Amino acid sequence: LGGSISRALQQMSNATIIDEKVLNDCLNEITRALLQSDVQFKLVRDMQTNIKKIVNLDDLAAGHNKRRIIQQAVFNELCKILDPGKPAFAPKKGKASVVMFVGLQGSGKTTTCTKYAFYHQKKGWKPALVCADTFRAGAFDQLKQNATKAKIPFYGSYMESDPVKIAVEGVDRFRKENCDLIIVDTSGRHKQEAALFEEMRQVSEATKPDLVIFVMDSSIGQAAFDQAQAFKQSVAVGAVIITKMDGHAKGGGALSAVAATKSPVIFIGTGEHMDEFEVFDVKPFVSRLLGMGDISGFMDKIHEVVPMDQQPELLQKLSEGNFTLRIMYEQFQNILKMGPIGQVFSMLPGFSSELMPKGREKESQAKIKQLDSSNPKLMNDSRMMRIARGSGRQIRDVMEMMEEYKRLAKIWSKMKGLKIPKKGEMSAL
Ligand code: GDP
Ligand code: MG
Repeated sequence: LGGSISRALQQMSNATIIDEKVLNDCLNEITRALLQSDVQFKLVRDMQTNIKKIVNLDDLAAGHNKRRIIQQAVFNELCKILDPGKPAFAPKKGKASVVMFVGLQGSGKTTTCTKYAFYHQKKGWKPALVCADTFRAGAFDQLKQNATKAKIPFYGSYMESDPVKIAVEGVDRFRKENCDLIIVDTSGRHKQEAALFEEMRQVSEATKPDLVIFVMDSSIGQAAFDQAQAFKQSVAVGAVIITKMDGHAKGGGALSAVAATKSPVIFIGTGEHMDEFEVFDVKPFVSRLLGMGDISGFMDKIHEVVPMDQQPELLQKLSEGNFTLRIMYEQFQNILKMGPIGQVFSMLPGFSSELMPKGREKESQAKIKQLDSSNPKLMNDSRMMRIARGSGRQIRDVMEMMEEYKRLAKIWSKMKGLKIPKKGEMSAL
């Protein structure tokens, strides 16, 4: 998406005269890219209309930075769609809140319930999980396993078939035990059917949740709006969590879910594991959606993990695009501390996940560790042969490492010319 949008903006910038036609062509191109990213058709069309109103053709003609003006307008419009105007209900530590999770089967509810509980537990809350999914065989076992792993109290039954009864019993029990975050996991069935929505309505009526969270799989594409709306019509959805953002989905469905539920996205799921869960933040999300990268997030990480006295030099090198093998090697321990390396790189502008395939981060990490700090530009065949012999490896291994380095170098080269903001003066654009 980022690529197509930059291309459209570039083409427009190259035009000598920016008239209505050139602007329209550009906006159509952007529209196409957004649709391909699963942003709902109506949202895209409204956005196009708004941008035309905002962008003043005379300003564009007067030689202002056209690309930047339009990019900023697209950015602002997307941010606006993701902001429903009021924050989600925020549970308070120490005061019992009931949070009910709804969503289709397979959307990631049970996994996300546990992540949500675990996230709060780490911050000193006393969460508890209630399994009110009596529809799917094995639902209780799954929740039990997750909860046990995270050491979170849970409630459920193998015998009882009435989800309302279990939900009420569980909530009552954990209220008595002074839990402050009582999380109710529900059934999803496999499609939107009347029986499911009726069940959600009943569980909600009986447990009186303070917050209903709609969980949506990011890969459902254009179906997002209708699905979110269907849930909103049966229960009082107050927040959204988008799952499987680590996959191929482009994330445009998040905009539809917010528009349909008039509720904000509060977290995103980025993997199957308990800690692959991130607080949702509008601006970095839109930056990434547009392929502009999340420089401020990346810089925050750098400031967080690289020792203070090494920061200026590293930042300088990064901005020169001179991230050499030696620096990479020297800084490797720090970079590892930044988290799974793929996640860190995904914050960079123009990053494509193909450069660092998921599941191969460990491999890449191990390979970089093996690399010595030699200058790869001088790496010719005989040198490779020598290194192979010297380290007791096959020449193929050395070549593989060089490929790995080239891939990384390609990523780092994107940093070239990057303006490095100082801590505290970071912007998404
Ligand atoms: P439920 O039917 O809505 O309760 O969905 P589950 O929690 O059982 O999840 C369905 C599948 O999606 C499971 O295999 C989960 O491991 C997987 N899953 C859930 N969230 C994520 C995520 O953020 N990323 C990935 N890759 N998989 C996820
Ligand atoms: Mg489930």
